[in-house]
Amino acid sequence: MIKTISYLGLGTMGSGIASNLLETGYQLTVWNRSVEKCEPFARKGARVADTPTDAVREVDLVMYCLSNDQAVEEVVFGTKGILGGIKEGVIAIDMSTVLPATSLREQEAYANHGVDFLDAPVFGSKQESADAKLWIMAAGNKAIFEKVKPVLEHLGQTVHYFGKNENATAMKLVGNLIVALEMEALAEGLVLAQKAGLDLKTVMEVVKVADFRSPLLVSNGQNILKRDFSPSFALKLMLKDVGLIERFGDSLQSPVPGLRLVGRNLASAFALGFGKENASALIKALEAKGDVAVKAA
Ligand code: NAP
Repeated sequence: MIKTISYLGLGTMGSGIASNLLETGYQLTVWNRSVEKCEPFARKGARVADTPTDAVREVDLVMYCLSNDQAVEEVVFGTKGILGGIKEGVIAIDMSTVLPATSLREQEAYANHGVDFLDAPVFGSKQESADAKLWIMAAGNKAIFEKVKPVLEHLGQTVHYFGKNENATAMKLVGNLIVALEMEALAEGLVLAQKAGLDLKTVMEVVKVADFRSPLLVSNGQNILKRDFSPSFALKLMLKDVGLIERFGDSLQSPVPGLRLVGRNLASAFALGFGKENASALIKALEAKGDVAVKAA
């Protein structure tokens, strides 16, 4: 049974996940590049490690949620990385959104150390992470999945098993392809509604109930009307994911023409300085082109 866990990467997603692990009663070690994010966890009894190598020495399970492939490269494979300290028999889980090829590279490297690895990225954002309501996907050895499933069930409302390593990461990219197109549809729709002089609160009331409704459209639409772009899922991360999806699509000769267009609008919004805002700030690229600002009356 898993009792001791090391969690690396206490960003928007990781801080919620690690808090829930502590509250569940696991003995937790934390590490984060910017050490100040470890302080609230230290106050609640977590051990704070100096390096990823140090963080993973005496635990049953290692979990991490990092920005991108480069961060995983540094934290796992780097000179003070996880691979320098992890022991045979430990399980490692990467919850970051990365390329499927990166998940496979991790799996192979861990296997050389006698470590089992699952890729287990998530859907949901800041709130779902804090509330242990994530939608979690996991891939890798089935017996290992069954062993860690109780841990994952403390973090999410659903846990789906996807078979061989890299499949959960692939599913994450499939989902984020849909998310990116939904965000683009919302942004274009609201700009058009504003231009047409529609009452935007009533527009959102329809979006909430019509047959194309989705929680993502509702929460982001309502925040856009309030001009609240505080980040739950940063625009720069969505731009990163679009790049991953393009590369993944290209590697399989799977066409993603709509996604490429979203990528161009995200890049415009990023160039305008909105990379650290929520991904819904994508609308600001369209507002600039359309010379309009979307706001509830
Ligand atoms: P975030 O708030 O930006 O946190 C990123 C984490 O990665 C931080 O702990 C950061 O450390 C660390 N990091 C970045 N570069 C690093 C490096 N070179 N070396 C070591 N650590 C590094 O991002 P997030 O929103 O939590 O997202 C984390 C992952 O989950 C991403 O892959 C994202 O695509 C995915 N995801 C996000 C959401 C969402 O809604 N936010 C939803 C699903 C999946 P510092 O604190 O030192 O910067």
